[in-house]
Amino acid sequence: MKVAVVTGASRGIGRACAIRLGKEGYTVVVNYSRSEAEAQSALDEIRSAGGDGIIYKADVSDLAQVKQMMRDVDKQFGQIDLLVNNAGIVRDSFLLALNMNDLDSCLDLNVKGYFYCAQQAALKMFRRKQGVIINMSSVSGELALAGQSVYSATKGAVNSLTRVLAKELGAKGIRVNAVAPGFIETEMINALSDDKKKEYLDTIPLHRFGRAEEVAEVVAALAGDGFAYMTGQVITLDGGIAL
Ligand code: NAP
Repeated sequence: MKVAVVTGASRGIGRACAIRLGKEGYTVVVNYSRSEAEAQSALDEIRSAGGDGIIYKADVSDLAQVKQMMRDVDKQFGQIDLLVNNAGIVRDSFLLALNMNDLDSCLDLNVKGYFYCAQQAALKMFRRKQGVIINMSSVSGELALAGQSVYSATKGAVNSLTRVLAKELGAKGIRVNAVAPGFIETEMINALSDDKKKEYLDTIPLHRFGRAEEVAEVVAALAGDGFAYMTGQVITLDGGIAL
């Protein structure tokens, strides 16, 4: 048995990763912070495909809740093999109009939350000297999109964190990689205006937004033994937008 914790798995990319990993045979911890019905429906889908897991409510921007979640998961299943650090938010604004509460909530979830989950999961992985951490980054970690200074800064931090943790944790048998999607059809993208969507589509060589299942495919591959020698990498999956 292998156990995967996927943060922010009630919707979007996290949900697709949870379902894909369930099909791979992982026992999946479907983490969510508010959307219990959606988390339950993700777990139902995992189960109807023959997999299993649990749903777990925890705000991953809160260290105490992260500690409790990893402790409970470790106690219930005896191990954590894979962490998909996925829960994230976007709060676009030009610098001069930036609301500092938005800055705080983005940094708390997209950066501090990733540190909290990586640390608490790694503490459990150390014991068995094996584990995989996959951080959900974004092309915005490299691309400069006006109005995305906060989000870009958080994803740039995720990329740096990925590389440094790969160095620190490699000797403990833990691989750390990141996936940097471009525009993926989720609620995050659905919230954009039609004009903005068209503007972005025009910049994508493959001329379509990606699907959450396509991100999940890369996550599942990276987690597997086929990529056992890969660590510290940020894999871009963006239809060519960053070229
Ligand atoms: P989404 O559809 O908005 O889903 C976000 C998920 O995160 C939900 O399951 C939400 O669950 C959960 N969440 C939010 N705050 C949380 C918290 N404090 N603790 C635990 N869970 C929390 O987002 P998405 O588009 O799938 O994005 C997922 C990740 O991919 C993010 O890191 C994002 O930056 C990255 N990404 C997305 C795109 C894209 O185009 N969509 C592109 C590049 C990168 P609750 O409702 O229960 O809180």
